Amino acid sequence: MPARTENRLIQGLPRTLGRRLLNGCESICLVEGNSLFGADEPFQYVYFPILAFVSMGTTLGDHAPLEMGLVGNEGMLGATLALGVNTGPVHAVVRGSGAALRMPREQFQDELRLSPVLNRAVGLYLSVIMSQLIQSAACMHFHEVGPRLARWLLMIHDRAHTDQFAITHELLANMLGARRSGVTIAAGQLQDRKLISYRRGRISVVNRKGLEASACECYEATIGYYDRLLA
Ligand SMILES: [Zn+2]
Repeated sequence: MPARTENRLIQGLPRTLGRRLLNGCESICLVEGNSLFGADEPFQYVYFPILAFVSMGTTLGDHAPLEMGLVGNEGMLGATLALGVNTGPVHAVVRGSGAALRMPREQFQDELRLSPVLNRAVGLYLSVIMSQLIQSAACMHFHEVGPRLARWLLMIHDRAHTDQFAITHELLANMLGARRSGVTIAAGQLQDRKLISYRRGRISVVNRKGLEASACECYEATIGYYDRLLA
C-alpha cells in the first residue's frame, strides 16, 4: 500500500533534491470538484497530491466528460514540463479532497533545468501516465463494465487512503465511459458478492482481495509498469 503522508515521486528522489523540492512547495488542501487546469490550458502550478487524488480526462463535443486516469500520491500534475510543454492534453479535476503540495510552474521549470535527475524522474513518470491512458483506452474497448468498475474502484482505493469514499454513479459512468444504468448493475453485482457496499453515494471496500480478483488485468498492468520504472 502507498505511504499515507508523503508523495512517493518526491520521496523516490535523492534526499537532497527531494528536500529542496519539499522546501520549495506550498502545502495546500485540494477540494473535490475543483478544476486544477483544463486541457491545453497553461499550468500555473505543478501539484504533488498526498491524500488528495485527481482525475485526468477529456470532453468531446456535447458528450459527458470521459475520465481516463487518476493521480494520487504516486505522481504529480504538470509532468509534461519535463518535455518543455506548458500544457497537458487532459483536464485535471480533484475527485478526492485532501492534502497536496504545489509549486509555481516557473519555479519547477528552474528545478528541471538545474537537475537532470529530476528531469529523468518526471520523464519516467510521464511514461507511466502515457501507459495509464493507453491502458484505459484498450480497457474501454475490450473489457466488460464489471471488471472495469472493479479496476477503477481499486485505483480510487489506492489513492483515497481510506476504505470508504464518496463517489456518484454519474462520475463512475464518466470513468468507465458507460451508461449510468450499466454502472448501477455492475456495482450491484459487486455488492451482492460482498466485495463493496454502496449507500447514499458512499462506497466501502469490504473485500479488497475479492475486488482485485474481479478486476481486469489493466489494474495490475499499470501498477507493474510504475513499479518497473519508479519503485
Ligand atoms: Zn481493463
